Amino acid sequence: MNSLHEIQVPASQAQGVMDHINGDRLMQMLRQLASFGMRNDSGVSREALTPTELEARQWLCSLFTGSQYQWVIDDAANLLLRREGTCPELAPVMTGSHIDTQPVGGWLDGAYGVMAGLEVLHALDDAGIQTRRAIEVVAWTNEEGSRFSPGAMGSSAFSQPDRLIGFLEAQDNDGHRFESARDAALQVTPAAKKAALGHPVHAYIEAHIEQGPVMELGGYSLGVVSSIQGVRWYEVTVHGNSAHAGTTPLMARQDALLTAATMVSQLGAEAAARNDHALRLTVGRFEVSPGSINTVADRVTFSVDIRHPQESELIAMQDLLGSVLERNVGTCTHEVRLLMQRSPTLFDDHVLSVLSAAVVATGVPHCSLGSGAFHDAMYLADCCPAAMLFVPSIEGISHNAAENTHTADLVAGAKALAFALVTLAIT
Ligand SMILES: [Zn+2]
Repeated sequence: MNSLHEIQVPASQAQGVMDHINGDRLMQMLRQLASFGMRNDSGVSREALTPTELEARQWLCSLFTGSQYQWVIDDAANLLLRREGTCPELAPVMTGSHIDTQPVGGWLDGAYGVMAGLEVLHALDDAGIQTRRAIEVVAWTNEEGSRFSPGAMGSSAFSQPDRLIGFLEAQDNDGHRFESARDAALQVTPAAKKAALGHPVHAYIEAHIEQGPVMELGGYSLGVVSSIQGVRWYEVTVHGNSAHAGTTPLMARQDALLTAATMVSQLGAEAAARNDHALRLTVGRFEVSPGSINTVADRVTFSVDIRHPQESELIAMQDLLGSVLERNVGTCTHEVRLLMQRSPTLFDDHVLSVLSAAVVATGVPHCSLGSGAFHDAMYLADCCPAAMLFVPSIEGISHNAAENTHTADLVAGAKALAFALVTLAIT
């Protein structure tokens, strides 16, 4: 932790900007953004780079047209608003999130981080404060990954620009290429200055809704996010032998389905026995061949999704998976493929200490927690000091039309964000 002394100097200006956060204005901006793709059930359908999302981008570009401001769009169509600092040569402080949604998403996932960032700029204007470093508010392209895979394309390409070339080939279900959707985004925002992908960033903070129930259950309004858990995906295939259901005695079978079912239930039981609240284990896909009512299954393929904030536990769970499969395979055979892995993200100590001071300054109940979901901040952490700030989700609901957060919490989050961004931008 950094000493309080270190962040004492800018605290008065940071406090001043925080006091100018206007909750009504923030809520009004959030409602306006939600109107692009708003559904009758209060959900929002605004998938990445669709005509609806492009309209929302055009609306964004109509905001903040003063001389201190410049909209910028890069080769991944990340849309960024820069508020110039007194030392333009210094690396900027960046905040933001994404404005694309799931096919049916809520109105706050991603949108909150972008709108809270813009409200901080309004508050800076109202407070009449000019920061040393520029502050940039960014809307990352295609975070959700529901239209084009993989997700978080924009932030991933920003942190490592050579990834873009692979993303350009991605296609949606209708055969539209990401590249042409990206080109359309570049065309509809002529006022935005074109820029190369990626630039040095002094620090990145992403405000986001929690999307889970932990903060509400604990009675917290703000959460300083110290890490994003790691994940490993496996595909397990069990090979048996297909046989007639009526003629083949039980002891003469190599039943891939019974074997796979035993493996899955044993894996679940042994994972639960570890009594680890941070551990996540999910078998979400289970495919049976030939899938006939009167034939013994010859092959079963199932997925295993393991998540944990500590790499050592991910390794321990991989060992457990191997052991469970080995002990339960019986007369069948099996193979395991690692489909994907991502190590846990540990956020930057200094940015975390600034965020901690910021949440204390708001005076609301706060906590420190890890993120169960992936966010753009995960990729930013690969290229600059980064951290996240959470506000609670009512009943933990997200990726759902009913997604919501209490207004007071949304406003408290914008205040903490203001305090933290200004602290980082004036030093
Ligand atoms: Zn999100």
